[in-house]
Amino acid sequence: MKTKYNRNISVLGGGCAGYSIVKELSKCRKNIIDFYLGSKKSNNNFWGFWSFEDINDLENVIKYKWEKWKIIDQENETLFQSNNHPYCVTSRNDWIQFCKNNINDENVSFFDEDISYKNNFFYRKDSEKINSDIIIDCRSFQISTDTYLQHFKGFIIETENEIFDDSTAVLMDFRCDQSNGIQFIYLLPITKKMALIEPTIYSYRIESDEFYYKSMEKYLREIYKVNKFKIISEEKGAIPLASFKNDYIPNVINLGLKGNANRISSGYTFYFIQKQVKNLCRKINLPHKINNSKIHSKLINLLDRIFIDVLKSNPSKAPQIFQSFGKSFNGDDMAFFMSSKIRIIPILKMIFNLPTKIFIKSFIRCVFND
Ligand SMILES: Cc1cc2nc3c(=O)[nH]c(=O)nc-3n(C[C@H](O)[C@H](O)[C@H](O)COP(=O)(O)OP(=O)(O)OC[C@H]3O[C@@H](n4cnc5c(N)ncnc54)[C@H](O)[C@@H]3O)c2cc1C
Repeated sequence: MKTKYNRNISVLGGGCAGYSIVKELSKCRKNIIDFYLGSKKSNNNFWGFWSFEDINDLENVIKYKWEKWKIIDQENETLFQSNNHPYCVTSRNDWIQFCKNNINDENVSFFDEDISYKNNFFYRKDSEKINSDIIIDCRSFQISTDTYLQHFKGFIIETENEIFDDSTAVLMDFRCDQSNGIQFIYLLPITKKMALIEPTIYSYRIESDEFYYKSMEKYLREIYKVNKFKIISEEKGAIPLASFKNDYIPNVINLGLKGNANRISSGYTFYFIQKQVKNLCRKINLPHKINNSKIHSKLINLLDRIFIDVLKSNPSKAPQIFQSFGKSFNGDDMAFFMSSKIRIIPILKMIFNLPTKIFIKSFIRCVFND
């Protein structure tokens, strides 16, 4: 029953952010939630993150984890290890199912509908205005063609023989073609015979499916000397390596990619969505109005912008630039940095290990052209 203490909340977009926030907000009985999922179903994919205790729920959905991970280029192989903060993956399907299991259905109405937006208002069926106390917008959106992207296609493949080292994830292997942008292979060994192999590119243009397939096949042939394999499943995506300005609308909060949860240097987003959700749930009960869900600090945003500027202006030096992590960080340091947890000494070391002239030029561009 609706009482004067109830608060009506509309959540738009049934993806990672939408389900994550509804799971949390539905725990409070005074939140009466209309959850507009959208009409399109998303395919399954993995979400990688480093494990930290500040987001408890993630422990329940870890599908695979590795205490060791590597960055490889033509000359170097850097191994990182962290027993406290391993690299983990969950899957979209597992996470959404976990959220569904933990949503208090009594407070939530679900609608398989797309919501449109016009002149600062949101509409159902293009005409019925949504008049909730709070609107949380987590809808996916069209990324403009001038946005720098991390784009990829991943293949879970199975081989006849045991070829993968399942103790160590390969976060970046630059031993692949660099002519269409900065490319590396992301390889998650699930067993000794099965792995997710994901050609990943930093550029402005998404490639054809054939391009990613050929890159994966060539990598298997040249690095693992394997010609025969079976494809079990595929995932494809593009994450903006940029942040976006949203219109200011009273009582509307943007969350997930829509709320700039993505790290603009690496594309990692999943863990930051969980941080955004945690922060929002804390703030939503405060008397003052909340209109933003900013999750990355000014320092992290600046470092990321410099880092991406260094890469954009010197794509051929990408392997060397990423190896500067290796010279500066141990496994724990890297897990902290990638999860936006500031440890000053390793960050200073990383800055000093970047090629100095290039770093200074990018620093000036990012600070003074803002
Ligand atoms: C294949 C893939 C792999 C990724 N891997 C990683 C990873 O390893 N680690 C990591 O940190 N991040 C990863 N990401 C990035 C990020 O975590 C995901 O993009 C994440 O799904 C973002 O969550 P979201 O809720 O903002 O968007 P989404 O999960 O895309 O959800 C948006 C939802 O909005 C709905 N929608 C769209 N239009 C409307 C409308 N008009 N009305 C109502 N609903 C609408 C859509 O149907 C969708 O369900 C990956 C992304 C992809 C695509």
